[in-house]
Amino acid sequence: MSHKVISFHYTVKDTAGKVLDSSNGGDPMAFLSGHQQIIPGLEKELLEMSKGDEKSLTVSAEEAYGPRRDEMIQEVPRAELPEDLTVGQMFSVSTDNSGQPTHLVTVVEFNDETVKLDANHPLAGQELSFDVEVTDVRDATSEEVEHGHAHGVGGHQH
Ligand code: ZN
Repeated sequence: MSHKVISFHYTVKDTAGKVLDSSNGGDPMAFLSGHQQIIPGLEKELLEMSKGDEKSLTVSAEEAYGPRRDEMIQEVPRAELPEDLTVGQMFSVSTDNSGQPTHLVTVVEFNDETVKLDANHPLAGQELSFDVEVTDVRDATSEEVEHGHAHGVGGHQH
């Protein structure tokens, strides 16, 4: 399968029409197709589009950040987290042995003994609306395919 690098501007809204994120005013986002770099429902649509195309689309929760899962809520000892904790606070944590932060968790509730952390994506379980504009489509370079990400504006700069 040939890989594409697609650059696009986006505005993403929740079902109530509240803007959650947007690339307007900044660089477009660039991604390498076939590498789960963006949500599947959006990638599928973008792959059908050409440079200059604009589209409004809705992505179901299943094809966005997935359903919310109760087993993603875990309790950890209070001592493992900072003193000044607040409900709703977010932390980056490592879920592998690399020591690199890989996952965002949200504090659901806590007492003196334990803290309940929710590792669901903040947008899990939500249907999302996107306004997208494709600014460029090109074949990925062999280096990008090897690295597993797009290079240049909106991608990895290295
Ligand atoms: Zn690279």
